[in-house]
Formats: sequence, C-alpha cells, structure tokens
Amino acid sequence: MTSTVLVWFRRDLRLTDNPAWHAACASGARIVPVFIEEPWRRERSVWTPDLPALGPRREQFIAEGVFALQEALGGLLVRKGRPAEVLAVLAKEYGAERVYCTAGHAPYEVQDESEVAAQLALEVHEGGTLLHPEDLPFDIVDLPQVFSSFRRKVEKRWTVRPVAEARTAMVDVPKEAAVVQAGAVDARLAFPVHGSFQAAQTRLHHYLDGTRALSTYKETRNGLLGSDYSSKFSPWLASGALGPRETYAAIRSYEGRHGANDSTYWLIFELLWRDYFAFVARQFGRRLYAGSGLRGVKPAPKWNSRAQRAFASWCAGETGQDFVDACMHELAATGFLSNRGRQVAASYLVHDLGVDWRAGAAWFEHHLIDHDPASNAGNWLYIAGRGNDPRPVRRFNPEGQAERYDPDGTYRRAWA
Ligand SMILES: Cc1cc2nc3c(=O)[nH]c(=O)nc-3n(C[C@H](O)[C@H](O)[C@H](O)COP(=O)(O)OP(=O)(O)OC[C@H]3O[C@@H](n4cnc5c(N)ncnc54)[C@H](O)[C@@H]3O)c2cc1C
Repeated sequence: MTSTVLVWFRRDLRLTDNPAWHAACASGARIVPVFIEEPWRRERSVWTPDLPALGPRREQFIAEGVFALQEALGGLLVRKGRPAEVLAVLAKEYGAERVYCTAGHAPYEVQDESEVAAQLALEVHEGGTLLHPEDLPFDIVDLPQVFSSFRRKVEKRWTVRPVAEARTAMVDVPKEAAVVQAGAVDARLAFPVHGSFQAAQTRLHHYLDGTRALSTYKETRNGLLGSDYSSKFSPWLASGALGPRETYAAIRSYEGRHGANDSTYWLIFELLWRDYFAFVARQFGRRLYAGSGLRGVKPAPKWNSRAQRAFASWCAGETGQDFVDACMHELAATGFLSNRGRQVAASYLVHDLGVDWRAGAAWFEHHLIDHDPASNAGNWLYIAGRGNDPRPVRRFNPEGQAERYDPDGTYRRAWA
C-alpha cells in the first residue's frame, strides 16, 4: 500500500528549487500538501497595536502564491492555527507518517518546527538560503561578526548546491485556496507584483535576458524611481515563490551568455547579505528582538509620549524632512521602498528621532510586500548600531542623501 506524507508549505511557495518538495516526491508517497496561516501573522506589537504583523498587500501577495501552487498541484489544503496542532489533526485524518517542510529562520518559525517535531516525524530541508548551512566553512554559532569577513570566508570555499528540479506527485486533496480579488494598486508602484511562482519567473527573465538590466545593476542599484534600477526579486524571495539557488543559477547562466561583470557579481553579493541575516537570525534566536541589540550594547530607548509622537509623525510621513516623508508615503501607498529609501528612513527614526528600532521594524513588517523577518530585523539592527557588528553610529544624513540621490527633487515631488 502506498504511504502518505504531508508537505507543509511555508515561505517556499514553489515547486522548483524546493528540496523539501523534491524529497517528498522522491519518497514515492501520496502527498497531502497544506498551507497554514500561523497565529503570529496576526499578532500586534506594542508599537503598532492597531496593525496586524501581516498587512493587506502582503496578505494578497501570499494568497496569490498559494493559489498558483494549488492550481499547479491540482489540490491544496489551507488551514489556520498552530502548525503542530493542525498537522497532528491532518496526519491522523490522512494516515500520514511523515511531514516535509523548508527550514525557517525567524525564532517563531524555528519554534513552530520544534513543536511539530515533538509530535510528528518531521523532515526539515534547507531551501530558503543560497548556501546550505552545512556547507559553511564554520558552524552557525561561530558566524563571523562582520558581513565582509563572512563573505570572504564563504567565497573562499564557494559551494552552491544544484537546483532541485520540479517533480510531480500523487496529490488527491480538494482545492481550498481561494481566488484572490486584486486590491487597488497604486499606479506609482515601482513594478508589477503578483505572488505566483510564474510571475516570479517572469520578473527573473525580465531583469536578466529581457532587459539585461542585470548588467548595469551596480551603477543603478541606488535608484529611487522605476522598475529596473534594482531586481525587485525581494517579494518573491520572501514568500518563497522564487528560490535563491534558482536565482543564482539564472545569474550564472546569464553570465555565460552575456558576460560576467561587477554588476552580475553584485547581485550575488546582495544575496549573500540575505543569507547572512538569515544565519544571524538562526544564531541569535529570540535575542533578534532584544531592544538592547544582539550584543546588549545599550538599553532600548524609552517608549514614552515623546517617542510615540515622533513615531506617529514618521509613520504618517509628516516629520518635515522631505526625503524621509517621501519615503514613508511611498511605503504606505505601495508596500515597497528602495533600499536607499529604507536606509534613510530607518536611520532618521533611530538616530534623529531617537525611537526604538523595533517600532520602525514593526511598521515595515506590516507594510512591506517583501517582509522577511531576518532581513528586516537584521537591517534595522545594523542601522541602529545594535547588530552583530555594533559599530556605534550608522547615521545617514537625509539632506546629504537627498542631494546625492535625488538632486533635482524628482523623487520627493513624486511622493510629496
Ligand atoms: C531598514 C531595512 C529593512 C529592510 N527590510 C527588508 C525586508 O523585510 N525584506 C527584504 O527582502 N529586504 C529588506 N531590506 C533589504 C533591501 O532593502 C531589500 O531587499 C531590497 O531593497 C529589495 O529590492 P530588490 O529586490 O530590488 O533588491 P536588489 O538590490 O535587486 O537585491 C537583490 C536581492 O538581494 C537581497 N538584498 C539586497 N539588499 C539586501 C539587504 N540589505 N539585506 C538583505 N538582503 C538584501 C534581497 O533578497 C534582494 O531581493 C531592508 C533594508 C533596510 C535598510
């Protein structure tokens, strides 16, 4: 008799470059795929008590990704609740012997895994980072404190595992993911977003062979307006509709056809930043959200009425600093903001307004389509000088930044 296994889709909404899915297919078992909306998606922070962690734009984007997966599989269960409880019920109902999933990085994702593993036979596969943690030239507990040292070490012993091809399997469950009604999209959104894995492939193709924008990425990446100054892969990488190894393989293959240069290298360099923050999150666990920072450098700023007023003006884009305000308007209207804009806005909140970085990170979490727990917290900690490498001040002067990156004020006018 054919055995049955559960595949628990999380932030890996794709069938290629998905080692967990691949392993489940290779087992020859009948597969019951399930997506679970965990309670932490609806949690509210003390800084943003009116907003759930998951905002409507990312919710829609993820729903599109789940729906696309269901169409490709022919069936998919969708449940709400704590994964350990949901999966235990499903394992019983379907007589499943094993659960497959992709490893998470955030402390609450890792906790979900331990709770499931305490009840069921769970196989966790690494599919969310470019580098497999076992291929790192050090243990995660010995992760270098500084990104450049991490990069030099991994580049010396470079191993990216091959992309796991899509496989088919016996899936015999109903379709439960709902068709998503597209919400109103601000026409000024920097790029078209749809959460499906097919849309991710379209964007990948567009940025590589379609426009060859990749070949000038290093020169354009600090842009503020438009679709192609940077890759815009982040929403799909965050939901897992796009895999990091398939992105890397596509870049390498592009280099074979059109030539490698500083720009093609620089996109891989940025994917390494993403990996670095994922490994930092694994290394520090719950300490990732400590107000005093990863290494407890200084106490968290007080959350008093002054800080609350300053935070409210920052969220509303009413600080009076026109570059910062434009960034905050773009973020609230579209769910996206350039890397330059994120750095300037984050620095202003932390260093000029003296507000706890976690308040800003919570606001970003609600709004960003591409929210990734490790990259968001990691970048905020880094700018606040409370990260793995706590250099005291990483303040960006907003006037200087505007002069350099928006000299004629086009961006500030677009988002005034
Ligand atoms: C305060 C702050 C918060 C951030 N929060 C997030 C977040 O929640 N999710 C997220 O994906 N990125 C986050 N970033 C990193 C970065 O701003 C975005 O990844 C990038 O702007 C996305 O646009 P892109 O895909 O066009 O990037 P590109 O410039 O084209 O880079 C390609 C990919 O490399 C990765 N990458 C690039 N820069 C970084 C970086 N600094 N840290 C980690 N990964 C990087 C992303 O996966 C990105 O898609 C944050 C940065 C700051 C300063």
